[in-house]
Amino acid sequence: MTSDKLPVATILGVNIHAVTNAQTLALIEEFIASGRPHQLCTVNPEFAVRAQSDAEFKAIINRAALALPDGIGLLKAARFLGQTPLPERVAGSDLVIRLAELSHQKGYRIYFLGAMPGVAEQAAANLRQKFPGLQVAGTFAGSPAIEQNEDIVRRILPTRPDILLVAYGAPNQDKWIARNLDRLQIPVCIGVGGSFDFLAGVVARAPGWVQRLHLEWLHRLAQQPSRWRRIWNAVGVFSWLVWRNRR
Ligand code: UDP
Repeated sequence: MTSDKLPVATILGVNIHAVTNAQTLALIEEFIASGRPHQLCTVNPEFAVRAQSDAEFKAIINRAALALPDGIGLLKAARFLGQTPLPERVAGSDLVIRLAELSHQKGYRIYFLGAMPGVAEQAAANLRQKFPGLQVAGTFAGSPAIEQNEDIVRRILPTRPDILLVAYGAPNQDKWIARNLDRLQIPVCIGVGGSFDFLAGVVARAPGWVQRLHLEWLHRLAQQPSRWRRIWNAVGVFSWLVWRNRR
């Protein structure tokens, strides 16, 4: 299985791969075995809205080796638009946990870049408690600002990770990876949004039953009311654009 042969659902001009969590892990193992660099995006409805006004971001998602369906809204939209069905949600935060387990089993080296100072370290430490064999290539907060780019690349290069997780939020994390992918030559580079905050316990993830009711957005609104505009983009604006697109 290679990612360029995977079925794709196109939602508002954004291509999302129709993959399951298990297929994602299998592909990641293939990417690591190949040794060539690959960019992965964890696409959610907010990404799709942002891509409407940010051509660079849209192009990055559309040429990613894997654009993962990280939002129930995307699954619903694919069905509503008569696109290739997206089989299940592949959530970035869950993927990070599965990658830590894979690292524990196979010895893959993971670098944790991003979030506020100390958070990447704490996230990695918490994962190591669960998976003692996890190989942490390094952790660093840094910033997606261009002035820091060179310093961060030089920090990461000698640590030779197999997997680089970048937690700068979209679209900055995805632009950061696109800009540095060729130079870093890391087989798997993934933008993981607020995952380190969840893993470090800085922000609480919605309980399982809330996620199953597809109300994770409501939980985030209650926890971080200042995100209302972003949540509105992901829920309201996205639904409106998809509805208009079908007409
Ligand atoms: N972040 C960062 N530097 C920045 C902006 C954001 O490290 O200049 C981090 C922030 O601390 C958080 C992550 O980026 O850990 C993603 O934030 P957000 O909650 O926006 O992510 P989402 O999951 O909604 O994409």
